[in-house]
Amino acid sequence: MESIAANLAAIRLRIDAACLKNHRDPSTVRLIAVSKTKQAEQIREAFDAGQIDFGESYVQEFLDKMSDPLLENQPLRWHFIGHLQSNKVRSIIGKVALIHGVDRLSTAEELSRRALQHGIEAEYLLEVNTSGEASKYGFEPEELLRQAPSFFMLPNCTLRGLMTIASPDPALARYEFRRLHRLLDELRELAPEPSILTELSMGMSQDFEAAIAEGATLIRVGTAIFGWR
Ligand SMILES: *Cc1c(COP(=O)(O)O)cnc(C)c1O
Repeated sequence: MESIAANLAAIRLRIDAACLKNHRDPSTVRLIAVSKTKQAEQIREAFDAGQIDFGESYVQEFLDKMSDPLLENQPLRWHFIGHLQSNKVRSIIGKVALIHGVDRLSTAEELSRRALQHGIEAEYLLEVNTSGEASKYGFEPEELLRQAPSFFMLPNCTLRGLMTIASPDPALARYEFRRLHRLLDELRELAPEPSILTELSMGMSQDFEAAIAEGATLIRVGTAIFGWR
């Protein structure tokens, strides 16, 4: 196992190469280091190697780590990438830069209520089930477009884009990433303020290069940085 710093450097090279190949500016792709199940020490090691954005999937684990003395006073940017239940919104509001996994209106409504209470503006993405697998969370694309106006109306929370977890099969994944990109374009046509709908959170250790080729702005990489969970 290479060091975390070496893994990060290798991933950054691969991001640059994928951007070059697809005529994209590397500054338009943000790497989120997925640190779920990993210890504060390992997160600190990645931070010391220049990594700023981190993704966590479980509320209590995230709260424990963010308040760890190794991390709490550092300018890390946390992303909540797990499935978010409405009753957990109040635990993470104001503590994360972006919430990736909102999959129903009631969760966004709770986000809006809590953000208002805290006097902040929360940013979130809607999760889309692009693979059609019944086991996966997320909106069906048609349903998302139908409900979109309700999301645009909520105060104190801003919909910034879409997120998906693709099929393990790389050929299917590429197609699903393309589908998510198209759906974002369709969503923009319905949006009162299309210019803020910019984010496509897609691509993990196995498929982030395909996601970059299809327009990912946020890639979520765990195993390739921190090793197996
Ligand atoms: C765990 C996880 C990842 C990271 O997956 P790797 O294959 O380890 O890179 C990305 N996104 C989500 C939503 C995850 O839960």
